[in-house]
Amino acid sequence: MIRFKDVTKRYQDNTTAIKSINLEIKEGEFFVIIGPSGCGKTTLLKMINRLIELSDGEIYVNGQKTSEYNIHELRWNIGYVLQQIALFPHMTIEENVAIVPELRKWNQQKILSRIQELMNMVGLPPETYRDRKPKELSGGQQQRIGVIRALAADPAILLMDEPFSALDPISREKLQDDILELQQTINKTIVFVTHDMQEAMKLGDRICIMKDGEIVQVGTPSEIINRPVNDFVKDFVGAQITDTKVDVILENIIDQIKDSHPVSSPSRQISAATSLQEALMILTEHEQLSVEKQGQIIGTITRQTALKYLAGDIEKRGLKP
Ligand code: ADP
Ligand code: MG
Repeated sequence: MIRFKDVTKRYQDNTTAIKSINLEIKEGEFFVIIGPSGCGKTTLLKMINRLIELSDGEIYVNGQKTSEYNIHELRWNIGYVLQQIALFPHMTIEENVAIVPELRKWNQQKILSRIQELMNMVGLPPETYRDRKPKELSGGQQQRIGVIRALAADPAILLMDEPFSALDPISREKLQDDILELQQTINKTIVFVTHDMQEAMKLGDRICIMKDGEIVQVGTPSEIINRPVNDFVKDFVGAQITDTKVDVILENIIDQIKDSHPVSSPSRQISAATSLQEALMILTEHEQLSVEKQGQIIGTITRQTALKYLAGDIEKRGLKP
């Protein structure tokens, strides 16, 4: 879907922000990029839609070099959400969301029904909100509009650069849940930048850890936790986690990791005496697991709930990078 081949970015002052990166992001994947400030995350993201031109190498989107796309066509096919809420202040919510569909000359009826659909999807009913100005919405609501504006013209790819980091913890959690649900229903390819490991663990199908313009490791959340490639990754995730916390058995944490609304009955059962580490490995292949103790099911866990527990624990220990 998106492929980086030996991509390098040197800025005019000779800063090499990206050093010969190779990377493949799959269709429908929720791909999270994380790393310390200044490691090149924003540069990497903006090269995908050519907001920043690359110095060397090639990026392919759907098999075609980005340099060979008509720039408008490329950008229209890629939604982009920024950290700073970037709605146009003088335009209504409806006008903000309609921008790209109008540029693409969709007919008015199609635009209206698309706006309705999207606003309802994120819990902001159009009857109430369509005519408001951005400042008449809370920060969390504005960012929700920012997300649906990026989705309005139905792009195949969504780029998000620390989209929730300016929000309070509650709005942030809500938007994370929204975007996960969106991803499951609309099945976009999402490239999501964050510096927050908890967020990365919660959202990512795969996580890409960067440092100094290079990729240090790409893997699923449990691979990153269980098999960090070096001390940098280990420290970044939180060293103590890998040593002790994953040894905890499910029985002792079931109330914190069970899914409160399991959707279907899981294909597989595991014993409540299984360690969290082992459960995470099994969860790479199974969506959900029933946890069984003495013949009784005491809860259903998912990769999401287990990682969220682990990530919350990283944060509590103050090991967040
Ligand atoms: P991140 O998003 O991970 O914080 P950036 O991609 O913004 O990192 O920046 C990567 C590196 O490139 C940093 O060293 C930054 O100072 C540098 N950089 C970013 N933009 C420019 C620019 N326009 N000119 C020169 N250097 C830049
Ligand atoms: Mg950045």
